[in-house]
Amino acid sequence: MKKIITLLCALSVSLLSASALAKTVTIGMAIDDLRLERWQKDRDIFVNKAESLGAKVYVQSANGNEQTQIAQIENMISRGVDVLVIIPYNGEVLTNVIREAKRDGIKVLAYDRLINNADLDFYLSFDNEKVGEMQAQAMLEETPNGNYFLMGGAPTDNNAKLFRQGQMNVLQSKIDSGDIKVVGDQWVDSWLAENALKIMENALTANNNNIDVVVASNDSTAGGAIQALEAQGLAGKVSISGQDADLAAVRRIVAGTQTMTVYKPITILADRAAEIAVELGNNNTPDSNATLNNGMKEVPSFLLEPIVVNKANISKTVIADKFHAEKDVYQQ
Ligand code: BGC
Repeated sequence: MKKIITLLCALSVSLLSASALAKTVTIGMAIDDLRLERWQKDRDIFVNKAESLGAKVYVQSANGNEQTQIAQIENMISRGVDVLVIIPYNGEVLTNVIREAKRDGIKVLAYDRLINNADLDFYLSFDNEKVGEMQAQAMLEETPNGNYFLMGGAPTDNNAKLFRQGQMNVLQSKIDSGDIKVVGDQWVDSWLAENALKIMENALTANNNNIDVVVASNDSTAGGAIQALEAQGLAGKVSISGQDADLAAVRRIVAGTQTMTVYKPITILADRAAEIAVELGNNNTPDSNATLNNGMKEVPSFLLEPIVVNKANISKTVIADKFHAEKDVYQQ
């Protein structure tokens, strides 16, 4: 009898440790806005990778609404997820809901955008200041003198501030020397093309169409601005930057209406994020290459390298990486 009990004990211990090893990590992915092409890619790659690592993922999109996002995160907390992966709409308002998550032992990964004043476990992104530097540098190379219009991203997005910081690192000395003149500076709510279109229409009217460069912070806003330029017969004559290497933007580069974009290999970001989320869910410490202060703590971070894309290197970058198919990029 004693032998049987010992045997049963041993069996249940080994069953327990097997189930501990095979723990299914559940992840709640709270996305700001799936209306933008970029985030659909992030979601697909992240979910695939996480599932291939044995995790289960619940995805929600707040469609650019702060309250919706908070409610979605609360819902994930009550579902009892192990890890929250958050692409914040507003990186300033999640302190309380993240405190709730941490009280329940949930790990929190800020994905692509930093969340300020919150007890994050990890932050994964690209070097966002460098993105802004690349955009401004490309504009200066193309049009070293003239009237510059600065079109910032969503004012609620910490990244938008970093892109601007990077742009100013490059532009400030040229502004001071008078080589370039900033004729307007606006931020685009929710990064939406339709908002960028209106801003650009007004900027063109206010400046009698005398705008030589638009420093746009991403491709969706560049797309809106280019629509306004087209209406005035100025598309292709005004240099304009972007970011994300969205298919529409790469095609505009081929057509000559957008000067450049900044390609951020989303596959690397989303795959890495899935690995980190699973590591956090198993109480492991992911590798980091930076720490960022978010007002509450030094957040262990990993920052990836962005890549400039222009007409000359499309095939060596986004096509070589299979980010886009050649036939889609060059299709008439
Ligand atoms: C991202 C950009 C994106 C923008 C709008 C930013 O936080 O870094 O890649 O274009 O949000 O979604």
